[in-house]
Amino acid sequence: MNPNLLQTHITYLKGVGPNRAQVLQSELGIQTYEDLLSHYPNRYIDKTKYYKINELERNSAEVQLIGKIIHLKTVEQKRGKRLVATFADETGEMELVWFRGQKWIKEQLKINVPYVIFGRTNWFNGSFSMPHPEMDLLTDHEQGLRITMQPIYPSTEKLSNKGISNRVQSNLVKQLFTEANASFPETLSDQVLNELKLLSRKEALFNIHFPRDQHLLARAQFRLKFEELFFIQLQLISKKILRKQKIKGFPFAEVGEHFNTFYHHHLPFELTAAQQKVIKEIRADLGSNAQMNRLLQGDVGSGKTIVALMSMLLALDNGFQSALVAPTEILANQHFNNLQEILGSMEIRIALLTGSVKKSVRKIIHEQLENGKLHILVGTHAVLEHKVQFQNLGLAIIDEQHRFGVAQRSKLWHKNDIPPHILVMTATPIPRTLAMSLYGDLDISVIDELPPGRKPVKTVHRYDANRLKVFRFLKDEIAKGRQVYVVYPLIQESQALDYKDLMDGYESMVREFPLPQYQISIVHGQMKSEDKEYEMARFVKGETQIMVATTVIEVGVNIPNATVMIIESAERFGLSQLHQLRGRVGRGGDQSYCILMTGHKLSSEAHTRLETMVRSNDGFEIAEVDLKLRGPGDLMGTQQSGLLQLKIADIVKDNDILKTARYFAIQILNEDPQLALEKNKTLRNSYTQLVKHKNIWNYIS
Ligand code: ADP
Ligand code: MG
Repeated sequence: MNPNLLQTHITYLKGVGPNRAQVLQSELGIQTYEDLLSHYPNRYIDKTKYYKINELERNSAEVQLIGKIIHLKTVEQKRGKRLVATFADETGEMELVWFRGQKWIKEQLKINVPYVIFGRTNWFNGSFSMPHPEMDLLTDHEQGLRITMQPIYPSTEKLSNKGISNRVQSNLVKQLFTEANASFPETLSDQVLNELKLLSRKEALFNIHFPRDQHLLARAQFRLKFEELFFIQLQLISKKILRKQKIKGFPFAEVGEHFNTFYHHHLPFELTAAQQKVIKEIRADLGSNAQMNRLLQGDVGSGKTIVALMSMLLALDNGFQSALVAPTEILANQHFNNLQEILGSMEIRIALLTGSVKKSVRKIIHEQLENGKLHILVGTHAVLEHKVQFQNLGLAIIDEQHRFGVAQRSKLWHKNDIPPHILVMTATPIPRTLAMSLYGDLDISVIDELPPGRKPVKTVHRYDANRLKVFRFLKDEIAKGRQVYVVYPLIQESQALDYKDLMDGYESMVREFPLPQYQISIVHGQMKSEDKEYEMARFVKGETQIMVATTVIEVGVNIPNATVMIIESAERFGLSQLHQLRGRVGRGGDQSYCILMTGHKLSSEAHTRLETMVRSNDGFEIAEVDLKLRGPGDLMGTQQSGLLQLKIADIVKDNDILKTARYFAIQILNEDPQLALEKNKTLRNSYTQLVKHKNIWNYIS
């Protein structure tokens, strides 16, 4: 087959033409033959056999059964009437349910007469039911099973309106198979195919569209999922290997005076075992000849900052500068103040660079970075700007990685002739499966232990109707000298409305907590940054007791005296965000509280989120639930969503396949990093093709 055939524009496929091509593109993103080929059905109708009730599986397949209605009744409920039939075969019973047209249907149905029924089954309260089944009397039923299952393709209203029905979609794919003469070149090597007993690509593609039976469908799905995940892993791991071989890093051979002095005289507490372990891992990286690219995961409050600082001291001991980049000014400020305080009398020159640093000061910072006078630069995105040049940057640390895009990570690479070591830190725990896919090219360290003496935050869910009680509780806490956060959602699409909620909330707080007894700060995104800083500073100093804010305070802010976090409209936040917010309290020795406020109307997903928060303080557990609820695409926030738009595999459900794919990729690349061996020729070719047509993730720099 002409290898470029699959890149042919879909207009040229017989039966398509310009109008349909346009609809296919706008509705399904299908532009080429290849896109159509990988537009897989999302379910299948199985009329290849008659199932027995005891053979039914809890899945969404649509199946047919033969049996009789033995009982019929109408059930009245608040929400309306429904007609319920008990349907039986020789193996068991199930229910058939109608919510509409009961009267007419009831008249038609015959008791104790064999029917063939067809539909999707639901599993509820320990038995199966089938809503609105298609029914034929067995005597009228056209005998003759189908040879194949019927594929059902994802569709949209517009597609159906424009006449591109499921049948049309299926026919187009058939046409494609005819034109391509069913010769789809193999992409995997014989070795992989044999070891995993995979279907050939051609067979897999055929069976994913037109499965001959359930078993072949399963094998086709496995093969295509494996392939998809395998090439991603191949890419990630080959990058990692190549980087370790090729990209030399600065060897930080010395553990010198700064590190040791700090360790022995200035460390404000004993390191936890987890912190020690991670510092060791980082030291091993920095001492080797390769460039470090490490992801440091640790739940909020686990003490990542000190790890960052000690790594920067290692850089300094070896004559290098370092940079610590944070996603917000508030956080950069806090890091700066915090580092200055911890470093105390040590002679380490450290500066802060953010968008609001004055030009004159900025000029001095630029100079001192270039002549090497400055040792450590703390800042925001401003640090990434091209005009910020270092004399000798050896280590760049990014805090709260999930707020940065990959492009920003790569900017740091170019701040020295040899790329500096990179440490990215995140408090959004990333489930292992996801980390393997998103950050598969990074080494990973985890701080899985909190400093001693922390009391877990008590989390409760309260309805808006109980607000007065909540206010009384706040007053008690404030009377004890504690401080309180009240956080409002701010979601892009409804900014104006959210802003109004925030202001209304602020006003009602002011009424409830009047001056002069109470002082309230407010911080939100539409304020000038000086004003934000000012308000924030008042809260930090304890001049105000209540901080009303949007999620700008979400990341990193550390105020140990703040012990209550109230999250308004908590149902509108994602799980990981709720967990992040809660992490702002519980930072001192006092018992802290997180109160999730909502109205009475909640979706079941929102319920799960709130329940999870109330039940668990464990960031990794929460991340797992989040991943299950939202799927990987959304989990990483807008910047990274879309990166995980896999065609067929699902990182959560296909975790085993992911592991297998990763295992194979590692084995193959360890033996043959360049895929130069004859036996890996197919892999090399497929990989090159995938990269060329951008059909593989290409975002990791
Ligand atoms: P995060 O991992 O969320 O960035 P921080 O580095 O801000 O956490 O640390 C949270 C708090 O815990 C800080 O007040 C810090 O001083 C304190 N801390 C960190 N490590 C320890 C430790 N080993 N023992 C006691 N307190 C610690
Ligand atoms: Mg932090």
